Amino acid sequence: MSKYLITIGLETHVQLKTNTKMFCGCGIAVLDREPNTNVCPVCLGYPGALPVMNREAVKLTVMSGLMLGCEINHVSTFDRKNYFYPDMSKDYQITQQAKPLCQGGGVTIQTPAGPKRVRINHIHLEEDAAKINHYARFSGVDFNRCGTPLMEIVSEPDLSSPDEAMAYLLALKQILVYAGVSDCNLEEGNLRCDVNISVRPEGQAQLGTRAEIKNMNTFKGIYAALEYEIARQLATVARGGVIVQETRRWEPDLGETQSMRSKENAHDYRYLPEPDLVPVALAPEQVAAWRAALPEMPAARRERMMAEYGIPEYDAGVLADARENADFFEAAARLCGQGKTVSNWFMTEIMRLLSETGKTITECPLTPAALAELVVLVDTRVINGPTAKELLPELFREGGMPDALVRARGLGQVSDTSALEGFVEQALAANAKSVEDFRAGKKAAAGFLVGQVMKLSKGKADPQLVGKLVAEKLAGLA
Ligand code: ZN
Ligand code: MN
Repeated sequence: MSKYLITIGLETHVQLKTNTKMFCGCGIAVLDREPNTNVCPVCLGYPGALPVMNREAVKLTVMSGLMLGCEINHVSTFDRKNYFYPDMSKDYQITQQAKPLCQGGGVTIQTPAGPKRVRINHIHLEEDAAKINHYARFSGVDFNRCGTPLMEIVSEPDLSSPDEAMAYLLALKQILVYAGVSDCNLEEGNLRCDVNISVRPEGQAQLGTRAEIKNMNTFKGIYAALEYEIARQLATVARGGVIVQETRRWEPDLGETQSMRSKENAHDYRYLPEPDLVPVALAPEQVAAWRAALPEMPAARRERMMAEYGIPEYDAGVLADARENADFFEAAARLCGQGKTVSNWFMTEIMRLLSETGKTITECPLTPAALAELVVLVDTRVINGPTAKELLPELFREGGMPDALVRARGLGQVSDTSALEGFVEQALAANAKSVEDFRAGKKAAAGFLVGQVMKLSKGKADPQLVGKLVAEKLAGLA
């Protein structure tokens, strides 16, 4: 069998983090709201109700375009995409077709063969449709979501495997969440994908006929649907069949894609300029101001944190991955001036607590100031490492400051030599066998004795000092 090439392109709909809908003053509906209580004449499509463009949605889309290296169209226009379906009572969706806000650009992903550039065709702004709920004997239309601003990022067909598609989506999501453009919360449908897939024999330049799978909102579903669809198309061509251009739906319960309708072309939608909205004209100074306000991106932040705090590339990369983690780390590192130590705590104890509780760092009461203070308490030998390690989960769950806890509970490290000498005597007397072992050449026995002294001090002894005292004592006995 000859080898086949796989081509995938993605249309990613991203819900923008605005306060209000795209063309009216209704707020952005939360999921559990009563149906049709977040509506007005504009988003219900009443005759004569006129749309007013949401400035913030334009700003967030342009910022996304700038981060993705797109060209910004200084004049862009809105169009009507005409179709008949109950999810859009106007019978058209306001979108951008002829002149979208952003064009070009791309995302670099990592593949086993090295970095790969996935080009973006364009980014346009549009309104979301209503949600249709199906019940046992009827269906209902909920317009709460209708009119929510969506940014649609259309990639070029540059992807060639489900893994690459995942890498592309994760890269997009990271950039958009970082910049505060969208929460990209998949469960809430903040990020929905249409995928186009085709296969062609190696050596053929022209792309094969594509099938489109619509409206998927889980990464797992997208991956499984791509895998299924690729296998289906390869099997079809292998037995001499023909791929038809069509729109398909992913059925997660059956684990297969199913034909919905033969695929329409752009001209089927009778796009026409939206007469109720003037073109969007962006002053160059406006775009420049938005560009200046862009946040530092993860890769740049990783480099800077390595240089600024002297932390390893791996740590810097993990911390920079999520903006809230990097913010927390930097705040704590600046407060105590010990980036390496803060990073060690974060990479081990805090990451463990985060994964145990399933929380993000902003959702738990631990503050950067508390972590910084903990680092200082250990560094100035007020408390020892094990005590700090015991305090951290409590600070993580309950909040508060470590210094106050240390004082209230008398957790301060015992560095008083005479007090510790008593414990050393006690430990050696109670463990004559270990002392014997040490004298017989088993140096590891000293470590055990240090542990016994720590135990007698209820973990509060200065471990370095104990080590020194035990060594001295054993040397004296030898
Ligand atoms: Zn409305
Ligand atoms: Mn769309």
